[in-house]
Amino acid sequence: MAEFTMELSDEQKEVRDWLHGFAAEVIRPAAAEWDEREETPWPVIQEAAKVGIYSLDFYAQQFFDPTGLGIPMAMEELFWGDAGIALSIVGTGLAAVGVLANGTEEQIGTWIPQMYGDVNDVKVAAFCSSEPDAGSDVASMRTRAVYDEAKDEWVLSGTKTWATNGGIASVHVVVAVVDPELGSKGHASFIVPPGTPGLSQGQKFKKHGIRASHTAEVVLEDVRVPGSCLLGGKDKLDERLARARERAKSGSERLKNAAMATFEASRPAVGAMAVGTARAAYEEALEYAKTRTQFGRPIIDNQGVAFQLADMRTQIDAARLLVWRASWMATTGKKFESAEGSMSKLFASETAKKVTAQAIQILGGNGYTREYPVERMHRDAAIYTIFEGTSEIQRLVIARALSGLPIR
Ligand SMILES: Cc1cc2nc3c(=O)[nH]c(=O)nc-3n(C[C@H](O)[C@H](O)[C@H](O)COP(=O)(O)OP(=O)(O)OC[C@H]3O[C@@H](n4cnc5c(N)ncnc54)[C@H](O)[C@@H]3O)c2cc1C
Repeated sequence: MAEFTMELSDEQKEVRDWLHGFAAEVIRPAAAEWDEREETPWPVIQEAAKVGIYSLDFYAQQFFDPTGLGIPMAMEELFWGDAGIALSIVGTGLAAVGVLANGTEEQIGTWIPQMYGDVNDVKVAAFCSSEPDAGSDVASMRTRAVYDEAKDEWVLSGTKTWATNGGIASVHVVVAVVDPELGSKGHASFIVPPGTPGLSQGQKFKKHGIRASHTAEVVLEDVRVPGSCLLGGKDKLDERLARARERAKSGSERLKNAAMATFEASRPAVGAMAVGTARAAYEEALEYAKTRTQFGRPIIDNQGVAFQLADMRTQIDAARLLVWRASWMATTGKKFESAEGSMSKLFASETAKKVTAQAIQILGGNGYTREYPVERMHRDAAIYTIFEGTSEIQRLVIARALSGLPIR
């Protein structure tokens, strides 16, 4: 019988402690500055590259942890340090995963190293899917990719929005429509190599939180990329489109909104980010409650404060367990029959919003100022219920999985 354990291995503990050290010594002390500057923290990314945290090797090692806990542990520790800086460090990974998931070995070998650059010249990458009229409704995407057979080139045109690292990236991974009849089944992903003419940054957004992470529109005006930039290659795309057309004809598959469920396996990673932010705020609140004195005793002596902390910690632990379950399921190939990935992201992100608000309350007036980090953590936490599928979309995915019905 398989052994059940919730004990981390010595190796996992070692990695976790190493990451925690980097988060505590390098990320957290820089957090307030980069939040105010609202700029990509290049020197911190470079530090992460120097110690080996900003590299494909590092993520690959965590990804291949057979328990599935490598990635969530890494995310929790880095985002415990600071969400904006951590997203600047792991944002490239989102684009890299796009290439790993769909690219050929040659594409992986060519483009992923360019996404990270090297220690002396670090680069970032962007994953561009969302559009002004296609957020939750991915199937409404309009950016077109048209094949120019004579030149063996693809021509991309359209406007992407909300792209993390958009416009400042070396490599952009762009999702575009190759067959508008097929909804999200007619989408394909393309590499746009560094310096390609026609790609430009549109508006850079001024955000509520995670302000160290760059978020911008990406405008594509007749961007020509070689045929080899289609991820997976043309033969594979043609086969996939033919299959989708067959199914569309026979009506055997609902095409619209199919992409909503495709992130099931990656959502626990976002849940883990939320756990990191929630835990950071909870720890600040616990410490403050033990040291702040009112009415002649520490405020934690009041049940009204202590019980809040008890609830905060209980919810954080519950969120982590959901995240770990989903990550373990993804790694061990279990089927997400009840949308367990979405459950973990939904619960962890809502927990982060709630817990960071409670932390502000426990710190009183100080919690409301930028002298203390919980105000920033609360602003940062609001992103988790929005990106990688909003809380409403997670509920939709869960409800559909549970009922087997096309709940709308
Ligand atoms: C900081 C940041 C970084 C991002 N990074 C990236 C990135 O790197 N790459 C990328 O491609 N995208 C990125 N995104 C985009 C992100 O994934 C989208 O913002 C998200 O999917 C929601 O889309 P939307 O903003 O268009 O909201 P909308 O889809 O317009 O939703 C608005 C509201 O309506 C609700 N709603 C919509 N449909 C339904 C429904 N059927 N039932 C119930 N409620 C519904 C939503 O839940 C939400 O509350 C980022 C966004 C932000 C803010």
